[in-house]
Formats: sequence, C-alpha cells, structure tokens
Amino acid sequence: MGEKRSEVSCSRCDAVCCRLTVVLMPEDNVPRHMVERLVDGPEVMARDEEGWCVAVDHSRMCCSIYDQRPGVCRKFAMGSAYCRSERAAYREMQAQAIPLALIDEPRR
Ligand code: SF4
Ligand code: SF4
Repeated sequence: MGEKRSEVSCSRCDAVCCRLTVVLMPEDNVPRHMVERLVDGPEVMARDEEGWCVAVDHSRMCCSIYDQRPGVCRKFAMGSAYCRSERAAYREMQAQAIPLALIDEPRR
C-alpha cells in the first residue's frame, strides 16, 4: 500500500523531487551557471551525472538556492500525489539496484 500524505516529510526524504526536470519560467531568477537549455528549447535546472539538480546541497540534502528556487519547485507540495508517486518510483529504483550488486558477488 502507498504512503499516506501525513506520513511524508521532506526532512526524511532524499529530495526525490530534485531529480525531476525543472523547467524555468521567464520570471525565475536562478544562478545562470545552474541553467541549461534542452535541445528542444526550454531552459531547465542543470542536473549532475547522477540525475540530481545541481542546486542540491548533498551534505544537508536541501536546496542551496532555496530563497531563489524556481516557481515550479515552490509549487511542488510535500505529500501531494505527485510527491508520493515520485517517492514510490525512487524506492522501486533503489530496490532494483541492491539485488544487482549482490548478484555480482562471487559465490564461495
Ligand atoms: S516534496 Fe516530496 S519528494 Fe520533494 S523532498 Fe519533500 S517529501 Fe521529498
Ligand atoms: S532548485 Fe532547489 S528545490 Fe528546485 S529542484 Fe533544484 S535543488 Fe530542488
């Protein structure tokens, strides 16, 4: 069964929503070095090689430009259906990654 809204907290989350594509609007004012343009047009928050938004502060798992964060990030509601579905997809991805690592272990 999925999580309930009341069970979800950003303080106990790996900032899963910060792996989504963040399309920037003209009114957004984020540091330019954190922006890239997709081949089909829109500007987005750049992501690192592991898929995280480059603005994620990994030591604290929070947004390093919180006061300047884009509008789409401001609208992403903790515990919303979208939040919970992304968290479920992330858990699924992690669950699939672990057995693969174990399978690679040589048998004794
Ligand atoms: S909004 Fe949802 S997915 Fe994003 S950090 Fe908070 S709990 Fe995690
Ligand atoms: S700008 Fe901040 S809140 Fe938005 S995706 Fe990047 S790290 Fe997350």
